Amino acid sequence: MSESLDLDRPKEECGVVAISVPGSQANKTAFFSVYALQHRGQEAAGIAVSDGQAIRVHKGQGLVSQVFKENKLEPLVGELAIAHTRYSTTGSNSERNVQPYVVETMYGPLGLAHNGNLVNADQLRKQLLAEGAGLQSSSDSEVLALMLAASEGSHWEERLANVMPKWTGAFSLVVLTGEKILAARDPWGFRPLSVGELPGGGHAIASETGALETIGCSSYREVKPGEIIMVTGGKLSSYQIMDAVEPQARCTFEHIYFSRPDAIWDDLSVHEARQSLGEELAKEHPAEADVVIPVPDSSTPAAIGYARVLGVPYNEGFVKNRYIGRTFIEPTTELREQGVALKFNTLAANLKGKRVVMVDDSIVRGTTSRQLVDLVRAAGATEVHMRVTCPPIAHPCFFGVDMGSYEELIANKLGVPEISEHIGTDSLGFLSVERMMKALGRDDGYCNACFTGKYPVPVQLNLLTTKQRFDGVLK
Ligand code: SF4
Repeated sequence: MSESLDLDRPKEECGVVAISVPGSQANKTAFFSVYALQHRGQEAAGIAVSDGQAIRVHKGQGLVSQVFKENKLEPLVGELAIAHTRYSTTGSNSERNVQPYVVETMYGPLGLAHNGNLVNADQLRKQLLAEGAGLQSSSDSEVLALMLAASEGSHWEERLANVMPKWTGAFSLVVLTGEKILAARDPWGFRPLSVGELPGGGHAIASETGALETIGCSSYREVKPGEIIMVTGGKLSSYQIMDAVEPQARCTFEHIYFSRPDAIWDDLSVHEARQSLGEELAKEHPAEADVVIPVPDSSTPAAIGYARVLGVPYNEGFVKNRYIGRTFIEPTTELREQGVALKFNTLAANLKGKRVVMVDDSIVRGTTSRQLVDLVRAAGATEVHMRVTCPPIAHPCFFGVDMGSYEELIANKLGVPEISEHIGTDSLGFLSVERMMKALGRDDGYCNACFTGKYPVPVQLNLLTTKQRFDGVLK
C-alpha cells in the first residue's frame, strides 16, 4: 500500500466471523458477513469451512472482493465457517500471516482467526520454539492456534478453557473444528465480539453487530469478557471461563473511529456516541465559525453534533472517493505529490470566504491533517479551525491497533499549540479524556492508554510495536 494514499489513522488489525448453518452451506454467509467488516482490515482476507471431516481454506492479500470470486467460494463446502479480514503492513512475510490459520492436530483439523494482540506473545513464541514447535509466521494467531492444539482437555472447549488464562492482552477469537465453532473474548474485553441467531436456525459470531445484521440476525448479544461460546449441531452453549476483569478495558477507539456507525458496542449506538463526542467537543472547544465540516466518513456524526450545539450550519466540505480502497498501485511521483487529494476533493462553494471548523476523529502523525487543512484553504476558506473528537494520541497501542511508535506520534513530540502550527490551523482543540467519557456516559470500563499512557495490563514499553511485529520479524 502506498503511504501517500494511506490516511493518517489508527489501524484496526482485524475483523472476525464464525458461522454455523445446520443443513446448509456456510461459505456465502461467511463471505457477506466478513465483507461487512471490510473497514476493520483491508489488506488480506480468508474463509475456512468445515464439512465435518476436513477444513478447506482460501485466503490471500487484498480486499474481500478481490480475494474471493465465485469460483474460490464454491469449493469451500460445509455448514461451519470462520472468516477473517486483516490490516497488515506489506512485506515479504505478510502472506504467511494471513488468517484463518488451519493446522492439523491429533484431534483433527483446527482453524483459528483472531482480532487483538497478546502482550506476552513474544514470551509464548519463545516457549513454543523451545518446545520444538515450527512457527511459520510472526502473527500471534499462529501462537494461539498451536497452544490450543497442544492444550489438555477431552474436547475443544475444555482445551480452550485451559489455555485462555495463559494469554495476556487483547483477543476476540473464533475457532473452527470438524464439528463445531467456538468463540472467546479476553477477560479485559478490549475488542468487540457479538453472537446472534440467524433466520431459519443457525448462529453467527462477528466482531461487529452490523455484520450480524447484514446476514439477517435480528437478535444478538455481546460475547462476555472471559466467556467461551460453542456452537455444535445447531445448539449454542456458553461457559464463563474467567472472571471479567474490573474495571473493563474496552477500546475507546471503537466508538471514536473503528466500528461502523450502525454498531452497538457496550450497549451504545456508535453513531449516537459519535454525535455526543461532537457535542462535548463543542462545549469544550467552541469556535466562531460560519460552517462546520467533517472529515468523511467517520467524523460526520461528530460534526453534526458539534454544529448543533453551537448553532452553526453543518455542511459537506470534502467529497471522498469511497471506492479507491486499498490500492496496491504505486502512484507516479507527480500523483504522489497529490497526497490525500487523490482521495479527497473539496466543495469550494461551501468553503469559499468562510470561517471553517473541520471536525476529525484523530491525529496520529499529523501528515493527513496538514494536507486536509491546505485543501480547505485552497478552496477559499478564510480561517480553518480543527476540532478532534479524542484527546491527543501520545502513546502506542499494544492491544491490536497500529498507531505507530512513540517517535511517530506527533502528540508525543509536540504540544497542542505546536501541532496547530505544524498542521497550519488557526486553532486546534482536542476533546479531553473526561469529556470523552462523559459523552459515552461512562465513568470507567474503557482503555484510554493511547491518550493517558496508563495501560490496563502491564506492557514492556520497549516491546516491538505491533507494526514492527507484522513487518515479519521472526526471530
Ligand atoms: S491503547 Fe487506545 S487503541 Fe489501544 S486498545 Fe487502548 S484505547 Fe484502544
